[in-house]
Amino acid sequence: MLRRAAVALLVVVAALPAISEDVAVADATDPRPARPQISAPLAGRVVVVDPGHQLGNRHFPRRINRPVPAGGFTKPCNTTGTATDGGYPEATFVWQVSRLVATRLRGLGATVRLTRHSNRQDRWGPCVDVRGRAGNSIGADLKLSVHADGSYAAGARGFHVITPPDRAPWTADIHRPSRRLASSVKGGLLDHRFGVATYTAGGDGIDVRSDLATLNLSDVPTVMVELGNMRSAAEARVMTSPAGRARYARGLVSGVRRFLG
Ligand SMILES: [Zn+2]
Repeated sequence: MLRRAAVALLVVVAALPAISEDVAVADATDPRPARPQISAPLAGRVVVVDPGHQLGNRHFPRRINRPVPAGGFTKPCNTTGTATDGGYPEATFVWQVSRLVATRLRGLGATVRLTRHSNRQDRWGPCVDVRGRAGNSIGADLKLSVHADGSYAAGARGFHVITPPDRAPWTADIHRPSRRLASSVKGGLLDHRFGVATYTAGGDGIDVRSDLATLNLSDVPTVMVELGNMRSAAEARVMTSPAGRARYARGLVSGVRRFLG
């Protein structure tokens, strides 16, 4: 045994110079830019993107209605979400936008975690408590929950960003940076020609709410963005077009970059 180990060690030692030379040669001749993540603006950053709902939620009423912890009270595990008048579901819209956001953030060097990994009729959840805690154990820099609204009020359109209040012991620790994240996301969407909500959030596009598990259970800065009103025919046209969804994604990424500096 000892002799075999000694032989193995000799082999390793003998191989070391060759390995080093190979690495050096590979670096010198590699046509790709060297280690792009070092110069990437979001290198080392961790972002959780939470696409609201799940396409199959309506098929699982018992599971979806189960009460879960929501920050001092309980809420149903999840809801079905809204849709355009033409039947394009919120779950699908926010899934598509969130995937674009994740791709762009990864391209900038960030590590991105999504809270769901499919958009399927035979899937449900996760529950809002799981979404709320999604950034905590991984020390995320922020968590962005992506939704769209469904208001039948006449002329209702525009986005709003929901941020948690100063409420101990739940969100007292995150309400300040979350408010700054809300302003950043608002700025990013405004920069990409989206308008603030005409029908809610006091007209400034930022709402403060204490009733959302997705915000209450987070220990990292978090906001929920309602990208627009899916029941508005004009906004539905933007949401159902690939170019419109790409513009939403650029607005959200711009907001994340503002926040992360
Ligand atoms: Zn929603």
